[in-house]
Amino acid sequence: MFTESWLSVGPSLDDCIKCNICSSYCPVAAVTDLFPGPKYVGPQAQRFRENGQPHSPDHSVDYCSGCRVCNEVCPTGVKIAELNARARAQIVADQGISLRNRLLGRNELLGKVGSIAPSLANFGLHNPVSRVLADKVMGIAKEAPLPHWSRNGTFGSWIKRTGDQRLRSDRKVVYYHGCATMYYEPFIGKAAVAVLEHNGFEVIVPPQNCCGLPMLSNGEFKAARNYHEGNIQKLTGYAREGLAIVGTSTSCTLTLKEEAPELLDMHSEEANTLKMAVWDIFEWLRELYQAGELRSDFHRIDMVLPYHAPCQYRAHRVGKPAMEILMLIPGIDLRESHARCCGIAGTYGYKVEKYQIGMDVGEELFGFVREQGDAVEMTACDSETCRWQLEHGTGLPSRHPIEILAAAYGLYDLEARALVGS
Ligand code: SF4
Ligand code: SF4
Ligand code: SF4
Repeated sequence: MFTESWLSVGPSLDDCIKCNICSSYCPVAAVTDLFPGPKYVGPQAQRFRENGQPHSPDHSVDYCSGCRVCNEVCPTGVKIAELNARARAQIVADQGISLRNRLLGRNELLGKVGSIAPSLANFGLHNPVSRVLADKVMGIAKEAPLPHWSRNGTFGSWIKRTGDQRLRSDRKVVYYHGCATMYYEPFIGKAAVAVLEHNGFEVIVPPQNCCGLPMLSNGEFKAARNYHEGNIQKLTGYAREGLAIVGTSTSCTLTLKEEAPELLDMHSEEANTLKMAVWDIFEWLRELYQAGELRSDFHRIDMVLPYHAPCQYRAHRVGKPAMEILMLIPGIDLRESHARCCGIAGTYGYKVEKYQIGMDVGEELFGFVREQGDAVEMTACDSETCRWQLEHGTGLPSRHPIEILAAAYGLYDLEARALVGS
């Protein structure tokens, strides 16, 4: 048993009434026989993981993508996805971790290294020969939608370079950019800063580190703990000052708010102060709107826009605030996806044995986009890996809702993915 994190999740298995609702909603169990479903690998198998019991006979828990659809539908609140994450951590603690999973967990390190020479890194990662090699040797699917390093510098270098142009104000907000914005998609951070400043806020971008999610989902709890401790040290001071910490990546914010403290049993006063201060950016913008303080000087954008709220967004239990804000923009015909998951689930769909499962899970979403007709030129989604999967599965560009909001304020070019005038 993984005792250090048992208490906040484990006992929930006793609430299972064996209704099987989770199994009928699980998108992975629906497309593969390799995964027997949440009830079996979650609460049922968990009994074998208790002290004094032989270890679970079933390693199929590795096929759980961690999408948390089961948690959403379970009528009694069993923390199935967390039980599964713990079981994976136990397997890693017992048997070690593969080089591939260790690498996939090092998002921040990979981002940093590739950013030293991004063109070379992109060539190294994306040419057909290395993709086949990575597939055969490392087990990273050759078709998987891996990101490209930014060729225009990191988000951090932009923020430093433009420091004297940034808005100064009594109203301040802290921005948590995460690794994807830092190294691959700095334009998301630029759009976020532009929107926040347009609404009168000075944006503080403090030193921060990876939230640790890829390690948590690959079962490396010890390393994830170090990352979360790093963020507690770097960010809690701002939380104590009463500042909101907003993030554009739904997976980063969910990890800071909930996944890391809960899975790692990190419930100190400092950890709780940090978690209470973290917001998804649209959750926070919706508060501003409800207070009558969100600027509404929107330019019209005529487009049909299929929108997918990623599963990690739904796990925030805050509704769909990005959708509520996008609906304020004149001209946008927003079409809401009810697909359960895009299939990528962080790094899950990158793995050679899971790539096709991810694509089959994603078909529900890809089909939804196709059904919206030929007028669709792009889709929208708040999570980076989901956007990359959406682009891969539909062939259409995908944008973060903050890019669309920045464009509606006339600050951002949606096609070029750049601030206007930059
Ligand atoms: S939905 Fe919840 S209560 Fe029903 S079988 Fe699954 S874990 Fe048990
Ligand atoms: S987290 Fe997702 S893949 Fe895992 S058991 Fe739950 S619904 Fe299935
Ligand atoms: S969830 Fe966010 S901080 Fe964590 S690895 Fe991904 S981008 Fe980095």
